Amino acid sequence: MDEHKENIHNTDVNVNMSTVEDDKLKSDSTICPKEREDAPRASNSDFSHPVYKEIALANGHINRMSKEELRLKLSQLKLDTRGVKDVMKKRLKSHYKKQKLTQSAAADDGQAEADYDYICVVDFEATCEEDNPPDFVHEIIEFPIVLISTHTLEIVGTFQEYVKPELCPKLSNFCVKLTGITQEKVNAAKPFPVVLKRVVKWLEERELGTKYKYTFLTDGAWDMSKFLNIQCRISQIRYPQFARRWINIRKSYGNFYKVPRTQIKLSTMLDKLGLQYEGRPHSGLDDSRNIARVALRMLRDGCRLRVNEHLHAGQLLPAPSWAATEGAPPPRWPGARR
Ligand code: AMP
Ligand code: MG
Repeated sequence: MDEHKENIHNTDVNVNMSTVEDDKLKSDSTICPKEREDAPRASNSDFSHPVYKEIALANGHINRMSKEELRLKLSQLKLDTRGVKDVMKKRLKSHYKKQKLTQSAAADDGQAEADYDYICVVDFEATCEEDNPPDFVHEIIEFPIVLISTHTLEIVGTFQEYVKPELCPKLSNFCVKLTGITQEKVNAAKPFPVVLKRVVKWLEERELGTKYKYTFLTDGAWDMSKFLNIQCRISQIRYPQFARRWINIRKSYGNFYKVPRTQIKLSTMLDKLGLQYEGRPHSGLDDSRNIARVALRMLRDGCRLRVNEHLHAGQLLPAPSWAATEGAPPPRWPGARR
C-alpha cells in the first residue's frame, strides 16, 4: 500500500518497581554507550545531574527485560501493553523518564511540555496510473487535514475537499480503484487554488499560527516536496510559506522506536504499535486519520514530535535544528507565481 508513496516512480522502571530491582539499578556502576544513548538529553548537554544517571541505569535494566516482563510492568502501570517489544521498551523508558524528570529539579531543564499546540496531519491523494511512467505528472485530487491537539491528545477537527485536476481531468480506472475517488467527485470539485484558499481560511478560523503554535505532519516527504510542490507549479501559484516545514513521521518513528527507515510505512507503523488500519486505505482522509493515530500513540509514549524536514528553493532538506520547534507561520494565500 503505502510503500508506493516514496517509491512512486518508483522508566519507572519506576518508583514502584520492586526494591530488589531498584537495588540492582543502584548497584550498576557503569553505563554502556547504548544506555547512555537512551538517556534523555539535558538541554545544556550536562549529564551531571543524578537524575540522568538514574534514567540511564533504568534504561539498561529495561533493555534486559523479556517481552513478558515488559508487558507485565506496563500492565501494572496501567499503560498500553500493545505493540512489539521495541515499542513496549520505549513506552516504559518514556514513562520512567517523564516521572523521574517531573520529580527532579531537572524537570525545568529543557523538558518543555509540547512544542506545538496543534499538529495538522495531511495526506494528499493524486492522479496516477498503474506503475506511474517516470514522466507522469501527479495532480492533487484530495486535500485532507486531520487536526491533533497536543494538549488533549485527541483529534479535534477534520477538513476534506476533493480537487478538480486541471491538466488531465479524466481519472484513470486504476486511480479510481486505488483511491476510491470517483470521476463525479472530482468533476464537482473546485480547482486547487480555490481549495487552497479554503484551507487557509480553515486554518485562520482555528487561529493557527496566530494564537496557537502549529505545524504540519506527513507520512514521508512526498506530500509536500512532491505533490504540493508540483501542484503549485501546475496551478501557477507560489509554494505556501506555511507548508515549508513539516514533521516526517517516518523519520520520527524510526528515531524514536529505533526502527530502520527502510521498514517504515503506515501499515508497519500501525502494526508495530499493535493498531489496525481503520477505514479505506488510499482515502486521503482515512490515511490522515490513521497517521494521526500513530502520531497520538507516539506523543502518549513520550515522543517529542518536531519538525525534521523542510523545502528550500524547491529542494528537500533536513530541518535546521533552530527551526525544529518553531511553529509554522500564519497561513496566507501564497499569491501567483512570478
Ligand atoms: P497514498 O497516500 O499511499 O494513498 O498515496 C498517495 C498517492 O500516491 C496516490 O493518490 C497515488 O497518486 C499514488 N500512489 C499510491 N500508491 C500507488 C500505486 N500502487 N500505484 C500508483 N500510484 C500510487
Ligand atoms: Mg493516502
